[in-house]
Amino acid sequence: MAKIKNMDVEWGYSGERGPANWHTLCDWFAEGAKFPLQSPIALTQSICQTDNSTYQALSIHYQKELFTEKEFKNTIHFVPFDTKSFVVFNKIEYHLTDIHFHMPSEHVIENQRQPLEFHLVHMNAAGENLVLGVLFDLTEDEGKIFNNQPDTIWDFANHLQEFNPVIFLPEKRSHYHYVGSLTTPPTKGPINWFVFDTIGKMKLDFIDLFREDVAENNSRPLQELKERQVDYYGG
Ligand SMILES: [Zn+2]
Repeated sequence: MAKIKNMDVEWGYSGERGPANWHTLCDWFAEGAKFPLQSPIALTQSICQTDNSTYQALSIHYQKELFTEKEFKNTIHFVPFDTKSFVVFNKIEYHLTDIHFHMPSEHVIENQRQPLEFHLVHMNAAGENLVLGVLFDLTEDEGKIFNNQPDTIWDFANHLQEFNPVIFLPEKRSHYHYVGSLTTPPTKGPINWFVFDTIGKMKLDFIDLFREDVAENNSRPLQELKERQVDYYGG
Protein backbone atom coordinates (compact mmCIF):
# COMPACT_ATOMS: atom_id res chain seq x y z
CA MET A 1 0.00 0.00 0.00
CA ALA A 2 1.22 3.46 -0.87
CA LYS A 3 2.51 5.55 1.96
CA ILE A 4 0.08 8.27 2.97
CA LYS A 5 1.55 11.70 2.40
CA ASN A 6 0.56 15.36 2.36
CA MET A 7 -2.31 15.05 4.80
CA ASP A 8 -2.85 18.78 4.98
CA VAL A 9 -3.11 19.87 1.35
CA GLU A 10 -5.14 22.89 0.34
CA TRP A 11 -8.43 22.30 -1.42
CA GLY A 12 -11.34 24.44 -2.52
CA TYR A 13 -14.51 24.56 -4.55
CA SER A 14 -13.26 25.69 -7.96
CA GLY A 15 -10.39 25.17 -10.40
CA GLU A 16 -7.55 22.72 -9.99
CA ARG A 17 -8.22 22.17 -6.31
CA GLY A 18 -11.98 21.94 -6.78
CA PRO A 19 -14.31 18.96 -6.12
CA ALA A 20 -13.61 17.19 -9.43
CA ASN A 21 -9.93 16.94 -8.46
CA TRP A 22 -10.03 16.39 -4.69
CA HIS A 23 -9.17 12.70 -5.09
CA THR A 24 -5.98 13.62 -6.95
CA LEU A 25 -4.62 16.07 -4.38
CA CYS A 26 -3.13 13.53 -1.97
CA ASP A 27 -3.23 9.83 -1.11
CA TRP A 28 -5.43 10.44 1.93
CA PHE A 29 -8.10 12.08 -0.25
CA ALA A 30 -7.71 9.34 -2.88
CA GLU A 31 -8.34 6.72 -0.22
CA GLY A 32 -11.55 8.42 1.02
CA ALA A 33 -12.88 8.86 -2.52
CA LYS A 34 -12.77 5.08 -3.03
CA PHE A 35 -15.86 4.73 -0.84
CA PRO A 36 -18.52 4.23 -3.53
CA LEU A 37 -21.54 5.84 -1.84
CA GLN A 38 -20.67 9.52 -1.83
CA SER A 39 -22.56 12.55 -0.50
CA PRO A 40 -24.47 14.77 -1.05
CA ILE A 41 -27.33 13.29 -3.07
CA ALA A 42 -30.69 14.46 -4.39
CA LEU A 43 -33.45 13.32 -2.00
CA THR A 44 -37.03 12.65 -3.05
CA GLN A 45 -39.77 10.62 -1.45
CA SER A 46 -40.19 8.72 -4.71
CA ILE A 47 -36.87 6.87 -4.17
CA CYS A 48 -37.73 5.80 -0.60
CA GLN A 49 -39.16 2.43 0.43
CA THR A 50 -39.28 2.78 4.17
CA ASP A 51 -40.96 0.34 6.48
CA ASN A 52 -41.68 2.68 9.38
CA SER A 53 -42.52 -0.24 11.67
CA THR A 54 -38.93 -1.46 11.64
CA TYR A 55 -37.20 1.88 11.19
CA GLN A 56 -34.85 2.72 14.04
CA ALA A 57 -35.74 6.24 15.05
CA LEU A 58 -33.04 8.70 15.89
CA SER A 59 -33.32 10.16 19.37
CA ILE A 60 -31.83 13.55 20.08
CA HIS A 61 -30.41 14.51 23.47
CA TYR A 62 -29.11 18.03 23.10
CA GLN A 63 -28.46 20.51 25.88
CA LYS A 64 -27.22 24.04 26.22
CA GLU A 65 -23.43 24.08 26.23
CA LEU A 66 -20.37 26.19 25.43
CA PHE A 67 -18.86 26.35 21.96
CA THR A 68 -16.00 28.18 20.33
CA GLU A 69 -15.97 29.06 16.63
CA LYS A 70 -13.03 28.41 14.29
CA GLU A 71 -12.43 28.84 10.59
CA PHE A 72 -11.03 25.80 8.76
CA LYS A 73 -11.89 23.56 5.82
CA ASN A 74 -13.52 26.46 3.97
CA THR A 75 -16.23 27.14 6.52
CA ILE A 76 -16.81 28.25 10.12
CA HIS A 77 -17.13 25.51 12.73
CA PHE A 78 -18.79 25.70 16.12
CA VAL A 79 -16.93 23.24 18.33
CA PRO A 80 -18.31 22.28 21.76
CA PHE A 81 -15.87 22.23 24.70
CA ASP A 82 -17.45 19.30 26.52
CA THR A 83 -19.49 17.43 23.84
CA LYS A 84 -22.44 17.01 26.22
CA SER A 85 -25.04 16.87 23.44
CA PHE A 86 -25.58 13.55 21.70
CA VAL A 87 -27.94 11.47 19.59
CA VAL A 88 -28.74 7.76 19.80
CA PHE A 89 -29.12 5.62 16.68
CA ASN A 90 -29.33 1.82 16.73
CA LYS A 91 -28.66 1.99 20.49
CA ILE A 92 -25.29 3.68 19.89
CA GLU A 93 -24.48 7.15 21.27
CA TYR A 94 -22.94 9.67 18.92
CA HIS A 95 -21.71 12.89 20.53
CA LEU A 96 -21.96 16.24 18.79
CA THR A 97 -18.42 17.36 17.88
CA ASP A 98 -18.90 20.08 15.27
CA ILE A 99 -21.50 22.35 13.65
CA HIS A 100 -20.71 24.01 10.32
CA PHE A 101 -22.50 25.20 7.20
CA HIS A 102 -22.43 25.17 3.42
CA MET A 103 -23.78 27.73 0.95
CA PRO A 104 -25.78 26.91 -1.06
CA SER A 105 -27.20 23.69 0.37
CA GLU A 106 -25.44 20.46 -0.59
CA HIS A 107 -28.47 18.19 -0.41
CA VAL A 108 -31.37 18.85 -2.73
CA ILE A 109 -34.86 17.91 -1.49
CA GLU A 110 -37.61 17.29 -4.03
CA ASN A 111 -35.53 19.11 -6.66
CA GLN A 112 -35.13 22.20 -4.48
CA ARG A 113 -31.74 23.54 -3.49
CA GLN A 114 -31.76 26.00 -0.60
CA PRO A 115 -29.34 28.89 0.10
CA LEU A 116 -27.88 27.29 3.23
CA GLU A 117 -27.29 23.90 4.88
CA PHE A 118 -26.07 23.28 8.40
CA HIS A 119 -24.29 20.05 9.33
CA LEU A 120 -24.31 18.80 12.90
CA VAL A 121 -21.49 16.27 12.99
CA HIS A 122 -21.41 13.53 15.64
CA MET A 123 -18.96 10.78 16.52
CA ASN A 124 -19.32 7.52 18.44
CA ALA A 125 -16.74 5.80 20.65
CA ALA A 126 -15.44 3.86 17.63
CA GLY A 127 -14.73 7.12 15.75
CA GLU A 128 -17.64 6.70 13.31
CA ASN A 129 -19.54 9.78 12.17
CA LEU A 130 -23.24 10.53 11.98
CA VAL A 131 -24.38 13.82 10.49
CA LEU A 132 -27.66 15.72 10.72
CA GLY A 133 -28.33 18.04 7.79
CA VAL A 134 -30.74 20.97 7.98
CA LEU A 135 -31.55 23.15 4.98
CA PHE A 136 -32.42 26.81 5.42
CA ASP A 137 -33.91 29.60 3.46
CA LEU A 138 -32.51 33.03 4.32
CA THR A 139 -34.82 35.79 5.41
CA GLU A 140 -34.65 39.42 6.46
CA ASP A 141 -37.53 38.82 8.84
CA GLU A 142 -37.28 37.80 12.44
CA GLY A 143 -36.97 34.06 11.97
CA LYS A 144 -38.26 31.54 14.44
CA ILE A 145 -34.95 29.76 14.81
CA PHE A 146 -33.07 32.22 16.97
CA ASN A 147 -35.81 34.12 18.69
CA ASN A 148 -37.27 31.61 21.09
CA GLN A 149 -34.07 30.84 22.94
CA PRO A 150 -33.37 32.90 26.05
CA ASP A 151 -29.81 33.12 27.39
CA THR A 152 -28.18 32.28 24.06
CA ILE A 153 -24.75 33.89 23.68
CA TRP A 154 -23.01 34.67 20.37
CA ASP A 155 -19.79 36.39 21.40
CA PHE A 156 -17.63 36.38 18.28
CA ALA A 157 -15.16 38.90 19.78
CA ASN A 158 -14.19 36.35 22.43
CA HIS A 159 -14.93 33.25 20.34
CA LEU A 160 -17.35 32.03 22.95
CA GLN A 161 -20.87 30.83 22.18
CA GLU A 162 -23.46 29.32 24.45
CA PHE A 163 -26.57 27.71 23.00
CA ASN A 164 -28.58 24.54 22.84
CA PRO A 165 -27.86 23.05 19.39
CA VAL A 166 -31.52 22.14 19.14
CA ILE A 167 -31.99 25.68 17.80
CA PHE A 168 -30.66 24.43 14.46
CA LEU A 169 -33.25 21.66 14.19
CA PRO A 170 -36.79 22.01 12.86
CA GLU A 171 -39.63 21.29 15.28
CA LYS A 172 -40.96 18.64 12.92
CA ARG A 173 -38.39 15.85 12.89
CA SER A 174 -39.37 14.01 9.70
CA HIS A 175 -36.22 13.18 7.75
CA TYR A 176 -34.41 11.19 5.11
CA HIS A 177 -31.82 8.63 6.19
CA TYR A 178 -29.14 7.14 3.99
CA VAL A 179 -25.54 5.98 4.10
CA GLY A 180 -23.04 8.27 2.41
CA SER A 181 -19.71 10.00 2.91
CA LEU A 182 -18.21 13.21 4.22
CA THR A 183 -18.87 15.99 1.69
CA THR A 184 -15.40 17.48 2.21
CA PRO A 185 -12.01 15.81 1.67
CA PRO A 186 -11.20 13.05 2.47
CA THR A 187 -14.88 12.28 1.55
CA LYS A 188 -14.70 9.00 3.47
CA GLY A 189 -17.59 6.75 4.41
CA PRO A 190 -19.70 5.05 5.51
CA ILE A 191 -21.51 7.81 7.34
CA ASN A 192 -25.12 7.78 8.50
CA TRP A 193 -26.86 10.85 7.15
CA PHE A 194 -30.13 12.25 8.48
CA VAL A 195 -31.49 15.16 6.46
CA PHE A 196 -34.61 16.89 7.72
CA ASP A 197 -37.17 17.75 5.07
CA THR A 198 -38.53 20.81 6.88
CA ILE A 199 -36.76 23.88 5.54
CA GLY A 200 -35.71 26.27 8.29
CA LYS A 201 -35.65 30.01 8.10
CA MET A 202 -32.54 31.83 9.18
CA LYS A 203 -31.93 35.52 9.47
CA LEU A 204 -29.40 36.77 6.97
CA ASP A 205 -27.77 39.04 9.55
CA PHE A 206 -27.04 36.04 11.78
CA ILE A 207 -25.09 34.36 9.00
CA ASP A 208 -23.34 37.65 8.24
CA LEU A 209 -21.87 37.61 11.75
CA PHE A 210 -19.49 34.81 10.83
CA ARG A 211 -19.39 34.11 7.12
CA GLU A 212 -16.89 36.86 6.28
CA ASP A 213 -13.96 34.53 5.59
CA VAL A 214 -15.97 31.79 3.91
CA ALA A 215 -15.90 31.27 0.16
CA GLU A 216 -19.01 32.37 -1.70
CA ASN A 217 -19.70 28.77 -2.70
CA ASN A 218 -18.66 25.94 -0.38
CA SER A 219 -21.05 23.28 -1.60
CA ARG A 220 -19.99 19.94 -3.10
CA PRO A 221 -21.90 19.00 -6.28
CA LEU A 222 -24.46 16.18 -6.14
CA GLN A 223 -23.12 12.63 -6.25
CA GLU A 224 -24.65 9.58 -7.88
CA LEU A 225 -27.34 7.73 -5.96
CA LYS A 226 -26.13 4.31 -7.19
CA GLU A 227 -27.62 1.20 -5.57
CA ARG A 228 -28.35 2.53 -2.16
CA GLN A 229 -31.32 2.57 0.12
CA VAL A 230 -32.82 5.88 1.14
CA ASP A 231 -35.41 5.88 3.92
CA TYR A 232 -37.95 8.52 4.77
CA TYR A 233 -39.16 8.70 8.33
CA GLY A 234 -42.35 10.71 8.78
CA GLY A 235 -41.80 11.30 12.53
ZN1 LIG B 1 -20.60 19.74 5.93
